[in-house]
Amino acid sequence: MTKLKLFTLVIPLAVLLSHSGQYVPVDNVPGDIHDDVQEGARSTRVTGDPQTNSLRYISAVRFTEADFTRHVNGLKVRIKKKLSSDESSDQSSDQFSIVVQKPFVVIGDEPESVVQQRAEDTVKWAVSKLKQDFFTKDPEEILDIWLFKDEASYEKHTLLLFNEKPTTPYGYYSSAHKALIMNIATGGGTLVHEIVHPFMEANFPACPPWLNEGLGSLYEQCGEEGGHIHGFTNWRLPGLQRAIREKRVPPFKTLTSMNRSAFYNDDRGTNYAQSRYLCYYLQEKGVLVKFYQDFVARQKEDPSGFESLKRVLGERDMDAFKSEWEKYVMALEQ
Ligand SMILES: [Zn+2]
Repeated sequence: MTKLKLFTLVIPLAVLLSHSGQYVPVDNVPGDIHDDVQEGARSTRVTGDPQTNSLRYISAVRFTEADFTRHVNGLKVRIKKKLSSDESSDQSSDQFSIVVQKPFVVIGDEPESVVQQRAEDTVKWAVSKLKQDFFTKDPEEILDIWLFKDEASYEKHTLLLFNEKPTTPYGYYSSAHKALIMNIATGGGTLVHEIVHPFMEANFPACPPWLNEGLGSLYEQCGEEGGHIHGFTNWRLPGLQRAIREKRVPPFKTLTSMNRSAFYNDDRGTNYAQSRYLCYYLQEKGVLVKFYQDFVARQKEDPSGFESLKRVLGERDMDAFKSEWEKYVMALEQ
């Protein structure tokens, strides 16, 4: 029997609908890594040994049991200190359960059994499936995954523990805080999306934003097919279809060559969705993993991935491909 897992992002209707009852621009909704964009903290170092970038199904053990124990003890002290500084709080630091789910440490204020279950069903599953197809290296540091039980807890603890106000209601990855910070009430989809980012950072540090976000957002609605992680159509589709109808979607040459600032600050609001459904298309044609491998191997000659994309598609005319892809996307259903 195939065990079916389905991770999704639960988006409150109030967030999806603007005053006029239209969908808000697709880029404005997701949980993300925008704090890193502001801080410019993400590394762009490239691993010297090309062999280490090829897909080998090994995983270097970076940290020992003792390292994790030390890390967890440090966390307990930090939680206690930060929460006791909040005089308005009648809650104690005991409300947090800590589960080591390598290479991460999962911390949550839901009942311990629920935190344990999320660590197993979502974190462990996503890590093993992403490694199966894409990544060989774990993140370079022990990263914390904070699962706050609801919006109030997420807002309050993000301020207390990280001294910041989240810019997204769902969650985000902060390489500066070495943490994924989530409002888990919005569903496990964003968590899988965010797990992609530290793995991409460790395995393909020079990855352009379109693929980093394309793959992350592909898996914010995912499950298992044939034993592999598989992205399904999701809420980003209607906004993209509208943008295609309105001829607002840029050429793939433009999308793939966008740097972080262009990708994240661009106001057309189609970058995430276009990237996602390009990855979705590659997945459905059975060439997404091959494309990723080719791109990683040739990243020096082709830093945007555009040439690797043409090669894997067997396509010389990318304008013709865009028309074909747009037809394909218009026929998709959520
Ligand atoms: Zn993202």
